[in-house]
Parts: sequence; C-alpha cells; structure tokens
Amino acid sequence: MRYISTRGAAPALGFEDVVLTGLARDGGLYIPKQWSPVSPGDIRAFAGANYADTAYRVMRPYIEEACIGDAALRTLIGETYGVFDDAAVAPLRQLDGETWLLELFHGPTLAFKDFALQFLGRMFEHILAKHDRRITIVGATSGDTGSAAIEACQGRENLDIFMLHPAGRVSDVQRRQMTTVLAANVHNIAISGTFDDCQDLVKGMFNDQPFRDAMSLSAVNSINWARVMAQIVYYFTAAAQLGAPGQRISFVVPTGNFGNVYAGYAAHKMGLTDAKLIVATNQNDILTRFFEAGDMSLAPVRPSFSPSMDIQISSNFERLLFDLFERDGAAVADAIGKFRETGTLPDGEKLRAAAGSVFSGFRTVEAETLAAIRETYQTSGVLVDPHTAVGLGAVRQISANGSRRIVLATAHPAKFPEAVEQATGIRPTLPAHLADLFDREERCETLANDLAAVQTYVRDKVQ
Ligand SMILES: *Cc1c(COP(=O)(O)O)cnc(C)c1O
Repeated sequence: MRYISTRGAAPALGFEDVVLTGLARDGGLYIPKQWSPVSPGDIRAFAGANYADTAYRVMRPYIEEACIGDAALRTLIGETYGVFDDAAVAPLRQLDGETWLLELFHGPTLAFKDFALQFLGRMFEHILAKHDRRITIVGATSGDTGSAAIEACQGRENLDIFMLHPAGRVSDVQRRQMTTVLAANVHNIAISGTFDDCQDLVKGMFNDQPFRDAMSLSAVNSINWARVMAQIVYYFTAAAQLGAPGQRISFVVPTGNFGNVYAGYAAHKMGLTDAKLIVATNQNDILTRFFEAGDMSLAPVRPSFSPSMDIQISSNFERLLFDLFERDGAAVADAIGKFRETGTLPDGEKLRAAAGSVFSGFRTVEAETLAAIRETYQTSGVLVDPHTAVGLGAVRQISANGSRRIVLATAHPAKFPEAVEQATGIRPTLPAHLADLFDREERCETLANDLAAVQTYVRDKVQ
C-alpha cells in the first residue's frame, strides 16, 4: 500500500516510512492511496471471530510484506491485544433496547488510546530492530496520550521516550500512570508552565534541525496513520456483533482530535456502508458547529469535565477535508492556510454538504454531562466516565430511527473519578492491576519552561 499526503506535495511513501515520519514533509497527513475493501461476507464472519484475527484481516492490506511478514504480524497483534484485561478486548455492553456501550478501556492505561499505542510501540520496535536504528520519542501530554505512549514504549529496545506534562495541571491518576513507570528508557518531565508551553517546547525541539537529527526525534501523536489504522478494527467487530451488514448502526464518538471518528469513517469507506457517525463534542463544539451549519470557526478553549476533548483545532479533520475537496491536495493546503490565518474555514456550508449524511454533530454541555452520568447510573447501574457521557448526551438528543446506537466508551470511569463522584456520589475504583497506583514510587524531573534546559536534559539522558 502506498500513502499520499493530504496536501499533495510530499512524496508517496510505504507503511514503514509513514509510521516513522508521522507528519508529511509538506505539512500534510498521510492516508492510504485507496481503501482496502472488506466484503459483506467478511463482516458477517467477524461476528464470531476473535479480536486479534479481525485486527489482522483489517490491517494486513495496509502494511507491506517487506515491513513485516504474515506470521510476525499475527504474533505482534496477538501480543498487543493479549495485554487487554477482557477476553473480548472491546466488549459491548447493552444499556437499553437500542443503545450499547463499546468498552474501549480494557487496555493497560484505561483509555481507548491503548488500542493504537500498544500496537504502535511494538511496531516501532520491530521496524527499528530490522534497520538497527535508534530513535528518541518526544511528546507533550495533558493526560491520556502520555500515559498510553509511556506504557506502550517502556522497556522497548532502540528507543527512549521523553514525555512533557504541565506541572500540577494533570490529574493525580493521570500523572501517576506516567511517573510510576520506572523503566530506564522512560523520562517524565514536569514543566513549570501550561500544556501549550509543553507543546511549544516539543515543537522547538523538532524545529532545531541539528538537534532533531542528532537525537533522531520521532513522535507518537494522533496524526500517525498507524494509530488511525488500529482504531478501524473495533468499528468492524462491534458492527458485526450487532448484525452488520444489513443492520443500520450509528456510532456515537466522543471527539477531540477527530482521530477516533476518522477511523470510523475509514471503516465506512472499507465496507460498513450502513454505518452513520455521530460526532459528540463537549462545550468546545467547533466540530458540532461545522456538522450542524458548516461553521468551522475558532473559539477559545474552555476547560471541561472531559479534558481530552478540550480542543479547537482537530488535526485529523484534515484527512476528511481531503475527501471533501475530492482529493485535491492544493485545495486542502489553501483552505487550511486560510483557516489558520482568519480562524474560519472558507466555504464551510459547501464542505458540510459534501460530507453528506454520514456525519452529524451534537454538543453536550457541562451540566448535561453530569446528568448523563447520573441517569445512566440510575437506569442501568453502569458508571461511565465524562467523555463517554458526552456521547450519551448526544444519544439523548437523537430521535429513535430504527438504528442501533453504539456509544464508544473511551475511558474507564476511575480515570476521572471526580466528575463521576460529583454526578453520582460514588467514587469508581481502579481495576486490580492499578489498585496500588497511589502506593507506587514516582520518578519525574521538574524543569523550567526553557528549551535549552529541556534539550540539555534529553541529550544527557539519551547518551
Ligand atoms: C483522546 C480521547 C478522546 C478524543 O479522541 P480523538 O481521537 O482525539 O477525537 C476522547 N475520550 C478520551 C477518554 C480520550 O482519551
């Protein structure tokens, strides 16, 4: 499979290069040149298959043989999903006659990001060993991505990972999930500053070309194609279990960077043609405004109960935009440029119309998020996290239309205990493998918001 850039001016690459590169050289994102089809018969067979077998069937066409052979890929996928603590990996739980939760929080760090990062960490190790290369991963996190990336990279050969978080501004659970990982190749850095400061420091390291080359910097952020690819799988497994093909399914996706719901779009393109995608946002609702009325205009980020969705610029949206512009990379580059310049995407109404009826958008504001947590608990006895609750808030706004709704449960409730407790009076408990999280030793370096200081630290630790 060849991959092309959404801005049309970078060379086409194979899977291996796309994984290591992340962002294309023209500033675009890589997507497969064509979607690999999954037939109705294949989908039917997924209903009884185990998760790893379906993952292999869905992902194999996107990864060239030269990167990894069949047996090795099967092993890698088996190991990836073998660490999840539910035999079904991504189990469905029925809430009422037409609504199901797709539980995506059975991985080691309790959020759906484990599905992609557990795979990517192993894939990195495989590719690096093959070429006898070493890389340094740097990233900034406001919570979930950092812990999932650290967990996926800890103890792996040929890579170091440096994760920056804003000191005192991530939750205790999130910080401890990062800082209690004591592997020698894991380096947690608390920055005296904000999340934006952390991101600027990471950008500063990437923009320092000699440093970037000397350290072989790489990233695991959500624009990496391999992350999208791994997330396609559970759309197929869930739809198949509920009767696809031939059963209308609506996926309700709590959305921030548009990576997860874009994976749903990929599944739709590959063969889940009956599936609709409902983009659920919190009060940071730029995507909802777009799907409602073609209005994609920036507004200040307002902190919410669902911090992993407190985003204004959704980087993966560019991948959809490429299709809305009928795969004209120059037009995408032009539109993104204008958006960055003016804060508004031009021709929004036309683009929304091009998105057709596959997507719709709904917002759930703060009080509705707590109400959704409370009502779900009262009616079904299930505790949900505030991100999942934003999805359930969207469901309350949709009228029944004979389709089955699958709400993606993107995090375990114990990852965000404060909001759950505020809504229900019950503090959710961590699963057994994390029960002693608050007794574990932490390791973390606090550094000033200063690029030179961070670079010195990275250089010392890598050598
Ligand atoms: C990252 C995250 C999201 C948002 O996913 P995107 O792919 O960025 O849209 C939603 N919920 C949780 C719990 C997350 O960690």
